[in-house]
Amino acid sequence: MSALRLAGYDDPVLRRRADEVGEVTDDIRAFLRAMFSAMAQEGGVGLAAPQVRRSQRIIVVDATSVEPQTHPMALVNPVILKRWGGTSVATEGCLSLPGIEGDVRRARRIRVQATRVAGRATEPTTFDAEGWEARIIQHEVDHLDGVLFIDRLRLPHRWLAERRLAKLSTRPSPSTNAQDSVLSKVEAPSAKRELITARRALRI
Ligand SMILES: [Zn+2]
Repeated sequence: MSALRLAGYDDPVLRRRADEVGEVTDDIRAFLRAMFSAMAQEGGVGLAAPQVRRSQRIIVVDATSVEPQTHPMALVNPVILKRWGGTSVATEGCLSLPGIEGDVRRARRIRVQATRVAGRATEPTTFDAEGWEARIIQHEVDHLDGVLFIDRLRLPHRWLAERRLAKLSTRPSPSTNAQDSVLSKVEAPSAKRELITARRALRI
């Protein structure tokens, strides 16, 4: 399979619910290998199929750079069965949203059901994850549901992110007068600093 190309941040594929995968075929295995390559090449810690323009419920996760005790994994049809242990906030970036970062609240621990693919082996599995691994899986499963991390930012940070993305776009800006009046009050120092900086967050 040739190298995968990232979907642009305004590609509609990022906003639709991805389809279930019926069977793990050789094509899916080849796609997973290409996803791992793309994730490594882009310096990401996770990648969902819609991010490379394929609307299927497939993700790869590699949290080893931040949690060396974990292992990279490829999951097909992942479902988060349960969230517990309270929540935590951390700064996330996204390979699909260039130059945007934001603080996202997510569950500390999750239970995941999925088909795990490792080489030729394919097995239905249920496992628990915590820390960054849990955060990355939640971010990727959001991608499968057409949800981006900016949707989970508190206002007005979400508006700031949307406005920054709109500036990159040739499409009309989604901002409204109501947003603009609030943003004019908060845009400067703190909110902006909190949201937009160079690449200090993990890109998921
Ligand atoms: Zn992402």
